[in-house]
Amino acid sequence: MTTVLQRIRSNRPVFSVEFMPPRDQADERRLWNAIRELEGYDPAFVSVTYGAGGSSRDRTIRTTGRVARETTLVSMAHLTAVGHSVAELRNVIGWYAALGIRNILALRGDPPGDPNGPWVAHPDGLNYADELVALVRELGDFCVGVAAFPYGHPQSADIDADTENLLRKFRAGADFAIAQLFFEPEDFLRLRDRVAAKGCDAVLLPGVMPLTTPKILAKTVELSGAPVPARIAARLDPLVGDAAAFRAEGIDLVTEVCERLIAEGVSGLHFYTFNRAKATREVVARLGMVPSRA
Ligand code: FAD
Repeated sequence: MTTVLQRIRSNRPVFSVEFMPPRDQADERRLWNAIRELEGYDPAFVSVTYGAGGSSRDRTIRTTGRVARETTLVSMAHLTAVGHSVAELRNVIGWYAALGIRNILALRGDPPGDPNGPWVAHPDGLNYADELVALVRELGDFCVGVAAFPYGHPQSADIDADTENLLRKFRAGADFAIAQLFFEPEDFLRLRDRVAAKGCDAVLLPGVMPLTTPKILAKTVELSGAPVPARIAARLDPLVGDAAAFRAEGIDLVTEVCERLIAEGVSGLHFYTFNRAKATREVVARLGMVPSRA
C-alpha cells in the first residue's frame, strides 16, 4: 500500500488536499463531490481532520476509511491527543489500521473551549505530539506526519523552542511535516532553513489556502497567527466589495506564492479546501500540475 512519504518523494512537486469530516448529509454530499472532482487531478494524498477536542472521531474514522476503500486516493487520518486516554488513542489507531489506513497526522490538538487557553492533558493521556508520534510508531507500520508552524506555535516560548519541538517530533519517528498557513513564501522558506540548519532534511509541506473571500482571508489570519502583510492587503482590500474581483486576485496571489515555493524546490503543496474543490482545481491547473488524462 502506498504511503504519503512515497507519494511526496516523487521527482516532481505534487499537491495534496485536506478535508473536514462531514457533519450532516448535505455536508457529506458536498465533500464527496469535492473528492470525486479532485480524484482525476491525482492528488498525492487526501487528509481528513480530527474535529476539535476529538469531537469528530467516528466521522474521521468513517471518512478516511471510505476514501481508502472507495477511491484510488491515498488516505491520511489526523489524530489528536485531546480528551483521550492512551487506551482510547490505541483504540482509534487500531481502527485506522483495520480500515487499511497507513498514514496518520499525529497532533496534540488544542484545548477544548478556548483554543488559546492553557493545555491540560487527559489524566491518562499524552502531553505532546511527539509522544503521540511514538505511540503510533509503536503500534504499527504507519507513515507519520506532524504539524509545523512558520511563525512558531503560539504557545512556544520562542522560534528556537518551536524549531526544537519540530525536531523532537522527527526524532520520535515522524516522516514529514505539514506547515500551518502563512502569507509569504519566505515565511515558509525560513522555517525550512531553520530545520535544515539543525541538520534535518525531513520533508516539509507548505499549507496553502486560496484566498477566495474576505472570510477565508480572516481565517488565514486566525490560523496562521500573523496579520495580513501590507503587500497583500494593498491588493485585496480595495476589492472587498466586489466578490468576483476579490476571488480572482486571491487566486492570483496564491498561485504566485505556489510558483515561488515550487521554484524553491518544495516536494508538494498541501491545500486546505474547506471541502470545496473549485479553487484548488483552478490553482493546480494554473501551476500545470494536472495530469493530461484529467
Ligand atoms: P505539539 O507539537 O505538541 O506542540 C504544542 C505546543 O507545546 C508547542 O508550543 C510546543 O512548543 C510545546 N511543546 C511540545 N513538546 C513540549 C515539551 N516536551 N515541553 C514543553 N513544551 C512542549 N487540530 C485539530 O484539533 N484537529 C486537526 O485535524 C488538526 N489538523 C492540523 C493540521 C495541520 C497541518 C496543522 C498545522 C495543525 C492542525 N491542527 C489540528 C491544530 C493543532 O492541533 C494545534 O495547532 C495544536 O495547538 C498544536 O498541535 P501540535 O501537534 O503542533 O502540538
